[in-house]
Amino acid sequence: MSKLEMRSRIAQAMHFIDEKTGGVVPPLYTSTTFARDDNYEPRAGYTYARYNNPTVSQLEGILAELDGGADALCFASGLGAFSTLFETVRTGAHIAIPRIMYHGGLDWLLNISKKRNIGLSFYKPGDLDSLQAAIQPGKTQIVWVETPSNPTWDITDIAGAADIAHKAGAILGVDSTCAPPTTTRALSYGADVVFHSATKYLNGHSDLTAGVLVGAQRDDLWQEIWANRKSLGSIIGNFEAWLLIRGLRTLFIRFDAASRNAMQIAEHFEGHDRLEKVLYPGLASHPGHELAARQMTGGFGGMMSLMVKADEAGARQITSNLKLFLPATSLGGAESLAEHRKTVEGPNSAVPDNLIRLSVGIEDAGDLIADIEQALASA
Ligand SMILES: *Cc1c(COP(=O)(O)O)cnc(C)c1O
Repeated sequence: MSKLEMRSRIAQAMHFIDEKTGGVVPPLYTSTTFARDDNYEPRAGYTYARYNNPTVSQLEGILAELDGGADALCFASGLGAFSTLFETVRTGAHIAIPRIMYHGGLDWLLNISKKRNIGLSFYKPGDLDSLQAAIQPGKTQIVWVETPSNPTWDITDIAGAADIAHKAGAILGVDSTCAPPTTTRALSYGADVVFHSATKYLNGHSDLTAGVLVGAQRDDLWQEIWANRKSLGSIIGNFEAWLLIRGLRTLFIRFDAASRNAMQIAEHFEGHDRLEKVLYPGLASHPGHELAARQMTGGFGGMMSLMVKADEAGARQITSNLKLFLPATSLGGAESLAEHRKTVEGPNSAVPDNLIRLSVGIEDAGDLIADIEQALASA
């Protein structure tokens, strides 16, 4: 899908006129309960807010449209969505996950896999042979892909992974948090379920936590996820849903601006004498570049890592020297953030000592470049 098509798709998905008032923004429904009609039937399909809410439905319609899915379900956080999906894995079944993936999700999987005797196999991100070797045909229930993946931004071929998963009788789930639907629509490459931490790019203003699953089909699995959300109570709050609709209005422009800024920063700093390496899928030197160019059609995003010529303490110092980039975790907001990832992940982290992760925001590229230059120079 071209950038122009995506832009008009967002505009169409957001198009709204309130029939009663002519308002162009959907109202926020706060009611937790819904009165039945004279026949004791729900008037508009709603009964209780833990099951569903009109503001949440509005949001889900938009997200299903953006990712090209049959339906979307929203949750109180990314991990709320992730754990509600993985609740569908049967005791004794098996899942294949990347060796490097979102650490919070991995911790939870390690925990339930022990309790429920679920087999876990790890593959090398971006390497389909390694994924194939991790599969147990007939037993593997979910293959999980995260692309681009933190913090080296490895790119995994979604179509290739879908093929491997389907041949083994598994479904493919894709964590597309760092590649929102303006650049990658994972379902169009054969994924069965796409996941986003909507806390990140989808909302884009660092002021709410939310997660979304978009399903290719409304099949039995989808019904089970819906029932799990209802029982676990993991549905997104109505105010967060309303704020997220607001954030989505500028998704295209924010992601585009972050991608252009990140590309300028990556090009400026590649080969810099104080850096060992710049890791960004938009650079031809990145191992996943060719695939990313095909799979991320609306920009390479704002996520990159700088490997500095310094030891662990030096890298942390450079991170602290930044003035415009804020020293904080998370990603995908309008403001630029920098993080010394190893410090955050702790002593067992596999992240290199000298790696600084950047979430490039939508400020002026020249100002961001000058900030990194001064932080490197004063180290
Ligand atoms: C943040 C994040 C998550 C978890 O989302 P929360 O909204 O923090 O629960 C999962 N995957 C990726 C890639 C993330 O960046």
